[in-house]
Amino acid sequence: MNRLENRTALVTGAASGIGRATALRLASEGARVVVADLQDDKAAAVVAEIEAAGGTAVALNLNVTDEASWAAGIRATVERFGGLDFLVNNAGIGDTVPLEQSTTDEYLKVVAVTQNSVYFGLKAAAEALKASGHGAVVNVSSMFGIVGGFGTSPAYAAAKGAVRTLTKSVALGWATEGVRVNSIHPGFVDTPILGETDRSMLAQTTPMGRIAQPEELAAAIAFLVSDDASFMTGSELVVDGGYTA
Ligand code: NAD
Repeated sequence: MNRLENRTALVTGAASGIGRATALRLASEGARVVVADLQDDKAAAVVAEIEAAGGTAVALNLNVTDEASWAAGIRATVERFGGLDFLVNNAGIGDTVPLEQSTTDEYLKVVAVTQNSVYFGLKAAAEALKASGHGAVVNVSSMFGIVGGFGTSPAYAAAKGAVRTLTKSVALGWATEGVRVNSIHPGFVDTPILGETDRSMLAQTTPMGRIAQPEELAAAIAFLVSDDASFMTGSELVVDGGYTA
C-alpha cells in the first residue's frame, strides 16, 4: 500500500511501543519517517528495521519537553526531507501514583511530558505543516483522557484530557489552513509503559477481554494522517476494546 508516498512524518516516542509500530506502519505505506526519541539505540534499531524493509527513515534525538529540542528537530527534518506533512505526538510516560501520595514535582513532570510536549510540538511544526498542503497531526491521548479509571493517576488523566481539548482547539484554528488535527484514545496496549502490571487483569477490565497490540493503534494513526480521513479534524478516535463504551 502506498497511501502515504511522498509524505514525511515525524513520530515522537518512536523507539518503543505504539510509536515504534506507527513508524513502521507509516514507512510501510510509503512515508519517510523521522524516528524521534530520547533512546538513541532503540531509535536506530527502528530505522534499521524500516530500511531493511525498503523504507526511508532517520533517527532524531528529540526531547519533547524542551522547546529548543523541538525547534532543532523540525529544522533538521525540513532540511533533510524538504518539508513535514505529518506529526504524531506520541511520546509519553506512565503514572499510577494516587493523589495523596504524589508530589508536585511528579505531577509537573507528567504534565510536561504528556501535555506541554504536544503544545511545543504543534507550535514548532505549525509553519511546516501549513506549507505541506496535506498536513495532519495525531495527538496520542488515552481513554483516560475521556474517563477516569482504575490503573491511572490524576496527573496522567488530567494531562491526557488536556491533550483532547488542545487538539480540538488547534483543529478549529487550523481548519481552513489545510492541517487536520485529531486525537486518538488507546485503551490498554501491550507496551513497556505498562511496566509489571498484570496484563490479564487489564484484559479482564476490557469488554473485548484482551488488551491491544501496538500495531492496532498504528493502523488507526495511519488512517487519521491519510487522505482517507480527509474530512476529519478535531475528532477523537477511541481504540479501547469497548472500555469507554
Ligand atoms: P512506551 O513506553 O513503549 O513508549 C514511550 C516512548 O516515549 C519511549 O520510547 C520513550 O523513550 C519516549 N519518551 C518518553 N519521554 C520522552 C521525552 N521527554 N522525549 C522524547 N521521547 C520520550 O509506551 P507506549 O505505550 O508506546 O506509549 C505511547 C503513547 O501512548 C503515550 O503517550 C502513552 O501515554 C499512550 N498510551 C499508552 C497506553 C498503553 O496502555 N500502552 C494507553 C493509552 C495511551
